[in-house]
Amino acid sequence: MNKESFRRTCSPEFYKWQVKFYSSPKWERLRNAFREAHKMRCNACGKLIRGKSIVDHIIPITPENNDDPDITLNWDNLQLLCLHCHNEKTFQTKFNFDLTRRADVNIIPVVEQN
Ligand SMILES: [Zn+2]
Repeated sequence: MNKESFRRTCSPEFYKWQVKFYSSPKWERLRNAFREAHKMRCNACGKLIRGKSIVDHIIPITPENNDDPDITLNWDNLQLLCLHCHNEKTFQTKFNFDLTRRADVNIIPVVEQN
């Protein structure tokens, strides 16, 4: 990811888009069906998920591809993660300051207030 696209990934517009997307009926339906199909088994560690599960985009959503349903709403682009594996991903990312990998994590980024 280049500087310009990273800037856009962190933009308030993209943040708003993500809030809207992750609460859209289309996404909720897909996410629920995906969870059910995977019987709550984590795609990373293979364990049964007892608590919170996260439906993660394998190819991360960016401002360049967020209008492409083949990325955002594609069953084949999803993986189910347990909170532990998801956190591990997030944790690693934070400590590596790997800005590109940060986009791999399917969470809504925190936008800092000025
Ligand atoms: Zn796991």
